[in-house]
Amino acid sequence: MRFSIATGLSLLIATSPSFAAAPTAAQKLAQDATIVDTHIDAPSELLKHWDDLGVAAPGKEFDYPKARQGGLDVAFMSIYTSPEEDAEGKAWQIANTQIDAVEAMVGRHPDKFAVLRSPGDLERLRAGGRVTLALGMENGAPIGDDLAKIAQFHARGVRYITLAHSANNRISDSSYTVQKQWGGLSPFGEKVVAEMNRVGIMVDVSHLSDDAVRDVLRVTDVPVIASHSSMRHFTPGFERNISDELARAVAAEGGVVQLAFGTAFVSPKAAADLQAFFAAEADFDRANAAAAAAGQPTRSKDDFEKEWKTAHPVPVVHIDAVLDQIDYGVKTIGIDHVGMGSDFDGVSGNLPVELHSVADYPNLVAGLQARGYKDADIRKILGGNLLRVWNAVEAAAAH
Ligand SMILES: [Zn+2]
Repeated sequence: MRFSIATGLSLLIATSPSFAAAPTAAQKLAQDATIVDTHIDAPSELLKHWDDLGVAAPGKEFDYPKARQGGLDVAFMSIYTSPEEDAEGKAWQIANTQIDAVEAMVGRHPDKFAVLRSPGDLERLRAGGRVTLALGMENGAPIGDDLAKIAQFHARGVRYITLAHSANNRISDSSYTVQKQWGGLSPFGEKVVAEMNRVGIMVDVSHLSDDAVRDVLRVTDVPVIASHSSMRHFTPGFERNISDELARAVAAEGGVVQLAFGTAFVSPKAAADLQAFFAAEADFDRANAAAAAAGQPTRSKDDFEKEWKTAHPVPVVHIDAVLDQIDYGVKTIGIDHVGMGSDFDGVSGNLPVELHSVADYPNLVAGLQARGYKDADIRKILGGNLLRVWNAVEAAAAH
């Protein structure tokens, strides 16, 4: 038995992939509501392994047919560069190449996709069944040390920037690092936030250290987002998820926390394993560096990672873990401040069984309905809240 949850979802899940039966209330609401997912890693995946995402791409969690089936309207394409690519001086090049890849999707299928640059264009662009593609840049590394690049990326369509990724960078400290560099934002990072406010790019605090989130909230004049973070309440000590205190602070400024679906974000065991991995990796790197300095043989990092994965299998999680996150988020920061940023195509398929691709938002809607959420509140979570913040950031920039 693949599905073992007892919430009455199993019938829906069994029938949803084919849409064979009459649409359920959840499917109808998913189709009718504006669904905004703020984190889908399709562009970097395309560069690694190209597919035509305008037709069914079985190996991918985002493609046009799945997006239509799930009722997705605004897919934030993650323009992601790694700290390693930054160190090699390639971040700007790779970010622009990924934006080109998104534009190529639209060029190939103008009837199916459009780049969304303003929430005001959404109704016009989605007419006829288009899925709109917005751009979110994950890691501010492509800016380099040049504030002018922020306006350049805005001109290319970037509408949020996650200031850092898994390492400290020129802008900010990262949640993942053991050793922080700045104690929050760097002095340059404060200028970056102000410039993003000025040109109308949402500031994304996901991936940042707690001190950096506090600094962002001190500097910004407009609401901010966490594009793909879950509630740390369920994963104690996992700084990558947002604390109650900081989630409340984001909400108090009018912002929104877009909850992520990945197993490591919603499963306490997986989150603890990931933290233990970072510590073990730091030990491994130190030991290897010492061995190299002493002229002794070093160990292969690939082998180390393989052994780790074998010893720490990823737990199976179900949709209830995400629904619990939403319940807790709504209870803690309010219905107007919770949304979703799945991280589809970004977590190696480590996702809840019933939330495995952009076709599966109706399962989430069904789960929320089963927990007693009103349709109007579900619409806020699905996308209304995020669009409110985007509109506010755009309006403030226009002044
Ligand atoms: Zn991420």
